[in-house]
Amino acid sequence: MTYQHKKLIELSDILGFTFTCKECGISISIPTGEKEPKQGRLNKCPACDQEWMVTGNGQSNALTMLRNAFRAFSENSGGFRFALEIPAEPASGPASSGKD
Ligand SMILES: [Zn+2]
Repeated sequence: MTYQHKKLIELSDILGFTFTCKECGISISIPTGEKEPKQGRLNKCPACDQEWMVTGNGQSNALTMLRNAFRAFSENSGGFRFALEIPAEPASGPASSGKD
């Protein structure tokens, strides 16, 4: 007999999107239920002015689509439950410092 463990995260488990600056390490979180951040709010780090993402570029547009996807699946009225699957065991190794 084979057992398979799966670890699933439902969208309601995800509290927000976190951005960590690669330069200074500061993190900011935007709750998933929060309104769209003002245009340009994520263009640069609020602490050290490191460039983050440019309004209208691929990452900025992807963030908008991701937020829309969260909203669509959270309001899902279909006959299924949507979840994200993650590794059953935590990844080994040192925790990421947020720097490359
Ligand atoms: Zn920074």
